[in-house]
Amino acid sequence: MQNFNPNVPSGPLENRWDKHKFDLALIAPQNRKKYKIIVIGTGLAGASLCATLGEAGYNIKSFCYNDSPRRAHSIAAQGGVNASKNYQNDGDSTWRLFYDTIKGGDFRARESNIYRLAQLSCNIIDQAVSQGVPFAREYSGYLANRSFGGTQVSRTFYARGQTGQQLLLGAYSSMSKEIASGRVTHQSRSEMLEMIIIDGKARGVVVRNLVSGEISAHVADCVVLCTGGYSNAYYLSTNAMGCNTSATWRAFKNGAYFANPSFTQIHPTCVPPTGDSQSKLTLMSESLRNDGRIWSPKNTEDCDKNPNDIQEQDRDYFLERMYPAFANLVPRDIASRALKGICDEGRGVGSLFNNQRLGVYLDFSSVIEKIGIEKVKEKYGNLFDMYKSITGENPYEVPMKIYPAPHYTMGGLWVDYNLMTSINGLFACGEANFSDHGANRLGASALMQGLADGYFIAPQTVANYLARSKFEEIDLDHPEVIATIDTVKTRIEKLMNAPKPEYSPDYFHKKIGSILWTTCGMARDKDSLEAAIKDINDLKKLFWNSIKVTGSESDFNQTLEKAGRVADFIELGHLMCVDALDREESCGAHARLEYLAESGDAMRDDENYGYVAAWEFNDDGPVLHKEHLDFEFIKPTYRDYK
Ligand SMILES: Cc1cc2nc3c(=O)[nH]c(=O)nc-3n(C[C@H](O)[C@H](O)[C@H](O)COP(=O)(O)OP(=O)(O)OC[C@H]3O[C@@H](n4cnc5c(N)ncnc54)[C@H](O)[C@@H]3O)c2cc1C
Repeated sequence: MQNFNPNVPSGPLENRWDKHKFDLALIAPQNRKKYKIIVIGTGLAGASLCATLGEAGYNIKSFCYNDSPRRAHSIAAQGGVNASKNYQNDGDSTWRLFYDTIKGGDFRARESNIYRLAQLSCNIIDQAVSQGVPFAREYSGYLANRSFGGTQVSRTFYARGQTGQQLLLGAYSSMSKEIASGRVTHQSRSEMLEMIIIDGKARGVVVRNLVSGEISAHVADCVVLCTGGYSNAYYLSTNAMGCNTSATWRAFKNGAYFANPSFTQIHPTCVPPTGDSQSKLTLMSESLRNDGRIWSPKNTEDCDKNPNDIQEQDRDYFLERMYPAFANLVPRDIASRALKGICDEGRGVGSLFNNQRLGVYLDFSSVIEKIGIEKVKEKYGNLFDMYKSITGENPYEVPMKIYPAPHYTMGGLWVDYNLMTSINGLFACGEANFSDHGANRLGASALMQGLADGYFIAPQTVANYLARSKFEEIDLDHPEVIATIDTVKTRIEKLMNAPKPEYSPDYFHKKIGSILWTTCGMARDKDSLEAAIKDINDLKKLFWNSIKVTGSESDFNQTLEKAGRVADFIELGHLMCVDALDREESCGAHARLEYLAESGDAMRDDENYGYVAAWEFNDDGPVLHKEHLDFEFIKPTYRDYK
C-alpha cells in the first residue's frame, strides 16, 4: 500500500503550518551531516532546496542535465513572483492571495497548501532581497509591483523581464557557497534515468553522464525530485527545449502517483506559430497585459489589413467586452479560450497557417500615448526587443500578434502536505509536483511555489522524514542497485537497437505533440480523447519498432537522450488523455466541450469531480485514486470575472 494520506493538518487555517512545523521532528545540528539527500534538478526549486539543506548541515548530492544549474528552465521566467506584501496598500493580504489562488485554480486544490503558500510568499521576497536580487524599485526605494491575471491588486515583484534569471542567480549563489563548503556535491550534464527503491523507500538514483555516457548509481537516505514540468509533451511549447518528464515518469512507474496529468496550462500571450518546421514557441510575458489591450477586427474582411489602418470602431476589444471587471487581466485559461474562439470564428490575424489565421493583437498604442515611449521602454523594453528580433516587427509602432501556447503543467507527482510522494522518502518540489495550482495556475505563482517548496517547506519536512525513519546501510553492491543499473542499460540497448530503425526522435515527438495539441489542448471531448488513446497506443508500438538512434551509447549522444525522453512523453500523453477522459466536467484549463457554458466558461461538477485524480501505474492500465477536496473556508463558487 502506497502512502496516500494527504496529511493535511486541522485547526484554524492561519495556524496550520506553524502548528504542523512544531509537530515535525527535528535533527540536532551535529547529527545532520550523517544524512545523505539526493536532489535531482537545480532550477529554482532544486537550487533553493540544496542551498537551504546544505546550510543546515546535511550531506547533499545534486544532479542536473544542463551544463550548469544556472541554465535551468527557471531562468526563462520573465514576469515576476507574487507576494502579498501589500506595499501598494490596495487591499492585498495573505487571505486575498489565498482566495485568488484557490479561485484561479477553479477549486481543484487543497486549501491548507495554498494558505501556507500565501503565508510564505512574503518570506520569499525577504530571502531574495537579502541575496541581492535586483527587484524593480519605486522612486521611494520601495520594491515595485505590477498586476498579473486573475487579481485586482498589484502584488507581482519583478526584475524587468528577467525575474527567473535574477532569482536563480540568487539561489545558485547560495547553493555555490554550500558547494564550496563541501556540504553539496553537484554534477551537471547528468540525467537521472531510474529510481532505486529498496524496501518501499526511495534510496537512490541511476544517472547517465551525458558527456561520457557512463552509467552510475548513487544511494542516499531520501530523494527529492525538482525536475520541472512536462509542457514539451506538446512538442511546441514555451518551455526550454530540454524540459521533459523522464524523472517524474520513472517515479510514476516505480509507484509514485501522478496527479491531474491533464491539467495543462495553455498561455494566451505567445508569439503565434508560423510553420511546420518550427521547434519552439516564445512567451510574451503576462505582465504585458497590464498595459497592452487585446483586440481583433470586428469584420473578417479587415483581418489581413495593416492594424494601424483599422478604425477604432472596427476593433473588438473582446476581453474588455466579455469580462469588464478583469478585462485584459482575466486568468490565463479564460483568456486563451476567448482568443481561440475569436480565431475559430475567422477573426484571427497574421499569416495563414493550416488555413487559419492564428493571432490577435496586443496593442500598446494607448499606454504609449498616455505615459510616453520612454516609460514603456523602462517597463517592457527587453520584451519588446525580443519580440522584434523574432518577428521583425516593431511593437512600439505596430501591435504585437499573440496566440496561446502550451506553457505550464499544473499536473505532476502527487504529494502530501509534506511534499512527499506516495513512495516513502521520495519528495517532489516545484513544477514537478501537482500541489498548489488546481486546474489553472495564476501568473507569477510558479516561482512563488517553487521557492516556497525549496527554501521553506521541504527543508522542514525532509528533516522530519529522516528523523522518524530507520535506514539500513546500503552500498553500491546491493542487489537492487545492481538490478536498477541493469534496467537502465537494457532500456538504452532497446532504444539503440529497434527492429526496423527508421524514424528520428523528433518525428515521434511531433506526432505525440500534434495528437495532444488537437485532442488534449485548449478543447477536449470524449470522442477525440478516445481516438487519441488508440492513436497513442499505436504510436508507442511504432516507436519501439522503428526508433532510429545513431551514434553510440557510450559517448555524447543527444539523439539517444531525446529518444528516451520522447518515449516517456508518449506514455505520459496516454495518461493525460485517460485523465482528461475521466473528468466529465470542465474546470480551469480543462475544457471539455460537452461541459462548457454557452459563454465558453467552464462548468464544474463539484459533486462528482471535486477530487484530485491520482493515478497509479499498473501494467494493465492506470488505476485511479481520488483525493476528495474539502473546502472548509472558501465556498466553491462559479468563477465570475465579469
Ligand atoms: C517562458 C516562461 C516564462 C515564465 N515566467 C514565469 C513568471 O514570470 N513567473 C512565474 O511564477 N512563473 C513563470 N514561469 C513558470 C516557471 O518558470 C516554472 O514553473 C519554474 O521556473 C519551474 O521551476 P522548477 O525549479 O520547478 O523547474 P526547472 O526550472 O524546470 O528546473 C528543472 C531542473 O531539473 C533538471 N532535470 C529535469 N529532469 C532531470 C533528470 N531526469 N535528470 C537530471 N536533472 C533533471 C533540469 O536540469 C533542471 O535543473 C514561466 C515559464 C516559462 C516557460
